[in-house]
Amino acid sequence: MALGSPPEEGTVSVVVRVRPPAPCERERAAHPVLHVVDDNLIVFNPDVPSGPPGSVMTTRVPKHPGKDIKFVFDRVFGEGATQDEVFQHTTRGLLDAVLSGYNCSVFAYGATGAGKTYTMVGSESSPGIMYLTMVGLYEKIEARKEKSCEVLVSYQEVYNEQIYDLLEPKGPLNIREDPDKGVIVQGLSFHQPSSAKHLLEMLAKGNRNRTQHPTDANATSSRSHAVFQICVKQQDRIGGLTRDLQVSKMSLIDLAGSERASVTNAKGERLREGANINRSLLALINVINALADTKSKKTHIPYRDSKLTRLLKDSIGGNCRTVMIAAVSHSALAYEDTYNTLKYASRAKEI
Ligand code: ADP
Ligand code: MG
Repeated sequence: MALGSPPEEGTVSVVVRVRPPAPCERERAAHPVLHVVDDNLIVFNPDVPSGPPGSVMTTRVPKHPGKDIKFVFDRVFGEGATQDEVFQHTTRGLLDAVLSGYNCSVFAYGATGAGKTYTMVGSESSPGIMYLTMVGLYEKIEARKEKSCEVLVSYQEVYNEQIYDLLEPKGPLNIREDPDKGVIVQGLSFHQPSSAKHLLEMLAKGNRNRTQHPTDANATSSRSHAVFQICVKQQDRIGGLTRDLQVSKMSLIDLAGSERASVTNAKGERLREGANINRSLLALINVINALADTKSKKTHIPYRDSKLTRLLKDSIGGNCRTVMIAAVSHSALAYEDTYNTLKYASRAKEI
């Protein structure tokens, strides 16, 4: 079957979301390390007057990358942005691409505590991109009568370089590549949520099954990558017959924290775990960097370097569309993390 007009090939759009300060950060928020100028421009370490004469500058500034560093992104969401606004300007535009047969992916990248899980998963009262995407997809499918469409979802975790099913927990799963079907995780369960409420329950259950170990750096840090995949199977409906099966998928990923493992007091089991988390995250960073370099003729894309990149091999690069949501906090406490995230995100934008 002929595909619709291709999405902008292999593009990566990069947006930044600044989360509001937590109550305990309000005091420090007096000296924010970020200034959202408009929908596209964010200034790191703004050169603002440091308050009335005699006021004490409480901001802890460990390193000086410079003042007033401007970053331009496809979109910048300030702390007032709602879940729906973020969905509308990042993921909604991918739904048509998925329904035209292209694989798409959306990542939340950033340090622990920056708002990745809030953005991708959210809460029952304020559901995030995973939920909003399903609702948007169902709406679009219902509006089209000329195709029969089946939607299946899976939810898996990459933790310690192993893949686990979050909806039907069992031992680690193997991954293989099928020449026709693409990447296959053996034994992974697929589900058809029967209602929006059922979907929310599934996501909540999957999240409860995520592996979380408290670390010294942050008691609720998550070193697992959670991958929610929506598989869309479509067939033309012509005169009572269905034919031409077309399968595409959308991957929505809540990445592990991007802060360096050295921050964590990691020993023994935790150290291995930390090293492996970095393996998948670093491999993803390398894949995205290599894609950026293909413009300058570097053709090898190192998908095989980690479980996460193997899992997503058919969903990043090629003619897939990717959105990266870089989550940052403007609190001075997260100064270095924020700077590193902005630097990395702005590199990804070159793809
Ligand atoms: P991460 O997954 O990146 O470690 P979380 O998404 O868990 O971070 O966010 C850390 C805390 O901040 C959570 O309590 C979360 O509810 C809250 N939070 C994050 N982003 C927002 C937001 N945009 N609005 C309100 N609360 C937020
Ligand atoms: Mg999280």
